[in-house]
Amino acid sequence: MFLQNFKVESPNVFYGQDHIESQYDYNTTEVVVSEGTAKAVPKSQTFYFKTKTRVPKLGLLLVGWGGNNGSTVTGGIIANREGISWRTKKGVQEPNYFGSITQSSTIRLGTCKGEDVYVPLKSLLPMVNPNDIEIGGWDINSADLASAMKRAQVFDYDLQRQLEPYMSKLKPMPSIYYEDFIAANQADRADNVIPGKDKKKHLEHIRSDIRKFKEEKKVDKVIVLWTANTERFAEVMAGVNDTAENLLKSIEESHPEIAPSTIFAVASILEGCAFINGSPQNTFVPGCIELAVEKKVFIGGDDFKSGQTKYKSMLVDYLVSSGLKPLSIASYNHLGNNDGKNLSSQRQFRSKEISKSNVVDDMVASNDILFKPGEHPDHIVVIKYVPAVGDSKRALDEYTSEIFMGGQNVIVSHNTCEDSLLAAPLIIDLVLMTELAQRIEYRTGTMTEYTCFHPVLSLLSFMLKAPMVPDGTPVVNALFKQKACIDNILRACLGLPPENDMRLEHKLH
Ligand code: NAD
Repeated sequence: MFLQNFKVESPNVFYGQDHIESQYDYNTTEVVVSEGTAKAVPKSQTFYFKTKTRVPKLGLLLVGWGGNNGSTVTGGIIANREGISWRTKKGVQEPNYFGSITQSSTIRLGTCKGEDVYVPLKSLLPMVNPNDIEIGGWDINSADLASAMKRAQVFDYDLQRQLEPYMSKLKPMPSIYYEDFIAANQADRADNVIPGKDKKKHLEHIRSDIRKFKEEKKVDKVIVLWTANTERFAEVMAGVNDTAENLLKSIEESHPEIAPSTIFAVASILEGCAFINGSPQNTFVPGCIELAVEKKVFIGGDDFKSGQTKYKSMLVDYLVSSGLKPLSIASYNHLGNNDGKNLSSQRQFRSKEISKSNVVDDMVASNDILFKPGEHPDHIVVIKYVPAVGDSKRALDEYTSEIFMGGQNVIVSHNTCEDSLLAAPLIIDLVLMTELAQRIEYRTGTMTEYTCFHPVLSLLSFMLKAPMVPDGTPVVNALFKQKACIDNILRACLGLPPENDMRLEHKLH
């Protein structure tokens, strides 16, 4: 059974005029280890959640707006908003939001007379409708969004034709370009850059762009998201970018190790706007994280988890949780879009290689029966630029696992992941989930005041290849654990128990 809407009836949930309030018992197990023995102690802690129900008018500023992802997410939203359908060789295609968990996934609410009842994820708590987002952004290339869409070669011709009148009016703002950070092969794109080399002035310029956009579009809040080219890693240096104070000082002194993406992140944080990094580089140097924590502004990253990695973080979870031991993972990609061109340069590829490499660590670490301490499957990642395949990225993976009694199991997969069509819905989810998180507050029984989640928003992990988490907390890469985290936190805000899949009611004699 499928329902669009529902209300919770419980003494622990209160629907007010501006808020939904819930009381929720969070049950965990604490393990106490001492002198070779371990005790598992069930714990219960009461949380109170308060979610603002008024959905704001949301502005989204994309860095790299004229890229394949930027133009695809913009065109997709316009097509959905305007109800544009288009002809393909197979017939008429209607716009949709497939690939977005907020828009196109459901969760099991409960049972009605023994039958499962599902609701859209977006119906749990009030969320922004993506059709209502005001989009703007920056790009180092001056092409308007219609030309960017044509250059991207992602949408069918008939859709491009109909989007053109809307997209041609959209022009990216000039951006920050330090040629040392992205590949040299991008230099000919850089015809729309903020002049000068003064990084403090660049920071102020971006802050002023954010404020102007907010005013002009009359939006209540703005979220900034990096979907520009992958930068090289910035060196983390004592006295330069290791603390918030040093980072701000280094920007004032135009230190060469401060990347454009970090300037954008700092500008957003200082404007009180959440910042999300969709690329793999270390935009969030320690000083930047410290600044976000100090200013209590959400940051999320790194690197969209769109095709191959999503599959990997699901497949390895299946292998390890089935008691099979992955021995090697060999991942090979080729792609022909501008992202691929940028990644054909060694230093930018290295950023991607790092973000793709750690995605199975938590699953391996979870099973000491299969893996001795320190043991890890061989894992290699290769990326090649093949212009002819354009945005239609090919990912070939080989997983070799040890099975019963020394046998081997080899799984080979070939994935044609239309790159930007997978990334665009992730951008929507990242933004919508971040906006929702800004309206959720919690307190525990011992706290007098409500507060927000930690500024490092690990709730976004499902959408990210190398999820950032608050210092000292575990990283979860396993795909369905990441999804369960989202589902169950939203349920907790409604005082509903987590979905545990025990289904005891169907197992009674
Ligand atoms: P793209 O090359 O088509 O677009 C990037 C855009 O950024 C270009 O228009 C470029 O001119 C612009 N740009 C570069 N430096 C800039 C700066 N300093 N300021 C403003 N604009 C700048 O790439 P894409 O396919 O849209 O991917 C964007 C990013 O997302 C890449 O870093 C990629 O690695 C990452 N990513 C993409 C996917 C996916 O598409 N499936 C998945 C994971 C990560």
